[in-house]
Amino acid sequence: MLIGRKGRQAPCPALYQYRTSWMSRRWYRYGDRVIFMGWEPAEQGFYLNVVDLCGECGGTGEVDGTEEVCPGCAGEGIQLATMHPSARKSGLTLETLEGLLAEMDVSFPYFVKADLEEDQRTNAGLILHEYDLESET
Ligand SMILES: [Zn+2]
Repeated sequence: MLIGRKGRQAPCPALYQYRTSWMSRRWYRYGDRVIFMGWEPAEQGFYLNVVDLCGECGGTGEVDGTEEVCPGCAGEGIQLATMHPSARKSGLTLETLEGLLAEMDVSFPYFVKADLEEDQRTNAGLILHEYDLESET
């Protein structure tokens, strides 16, 4: 069902929600949330979507220690209820995006911000990049 899931720690399955859209996709895990963001050439703005990890599997999408699909999230690794379209904000400026993250108490690393600025500058639409903040500390 999910490709390349084995051996991955990050709950990247959520990414596939956006696979048909033309935009840069950058994401990282922060606490029990996953922060998705990127540049949307069609809107000439940034988007932001913060979702909660599934509390049952911790984001792996599997029952702990097995290869069974987690019943709490159907293998998605995130709480599906929070994957609501209205939770997604788009058409943002980088300043607005930064402000929203600050409101949610989510850190916004300088290197992520720098990459987003680069996406805007190059009007990027095909970038996939996952950050592993936990390995940086
Ligand atoms: Zn789960």
